[in-house]
Amino acid sequence: MDIVKGNMGWIEVIVGPMFSGKSEELIRRLKRAEIARQRVQIFKPFIDQRYANTEIVSHSGLGIRSDNVRTAAEVLQKVEPRTEVIGIDEAQFLGEDIVDACTKLADSGKRVIVAGLDTDFMGRPFEPMPRLLSLAEEITKLLAICVRCGNPAVHTQRLIASEDLIVVGAGGMYEARCRRCFDPQLAHEKMEEEKRAPGKLRAV
Ligand SMILES: [Zn+2]
Repeated sequence: MDIVKGNMGWIEVIVGPMFSGKSEELIRRLKRAEIARQRVQIFKPFIDQRYANTEIVSHSGLGIRSDNVRTAAEVLQKVEPRTEVIGIDEAQFLGEDIVDACTKLADSGKRVIVAGLDTDFMGRPFEPMPRLLSLAEEITKLLAICVRCGNPAVHTQRLIASEDLIVVGAGGMYEARCRRCFDPQLAHEKMEEEKRAPGKLRAV
């Protein structure tokens, strides 16, 4: 953001597939705010319990302490009046209400930085991130590297047999794929294989 006068708030959104460095970018911005002696609060949904309970940790191991929340309402409850910068990681797990919550916080003069997946395992827009993108002052879309061919990767490829929208995990369950190498039917085909030969084909 260039010039911000008075105590105007705004929304920054960081999106991209898994392994694109979203958490790292979020942590980087929050640490810089802390260095500037701003009051920072960080939230992440309870569903994401990878690595640490009271920390946001990126795949590369960079960490920052955080508060676990189950709902967007809980974010609003836990934000203290004096807080100036609010970080929210994995916002796609907090549902539609997170859009109103972020708007409220920005309207009340706070800088809100939200990171999350903008597409699901089928490559479809993953609400609420698309709505947040349309309401944000600043948008950052990160790309990962396709593990198949090395091109910029915009998709999260699911490698296991599940058609659930949310399957939390990292190692072995997902990989970054480019537009050409992405195969949205793979998870579905794995399901069919699993039905024919139960237990045999959990992961690639
Ligand atoms: Zn590729």
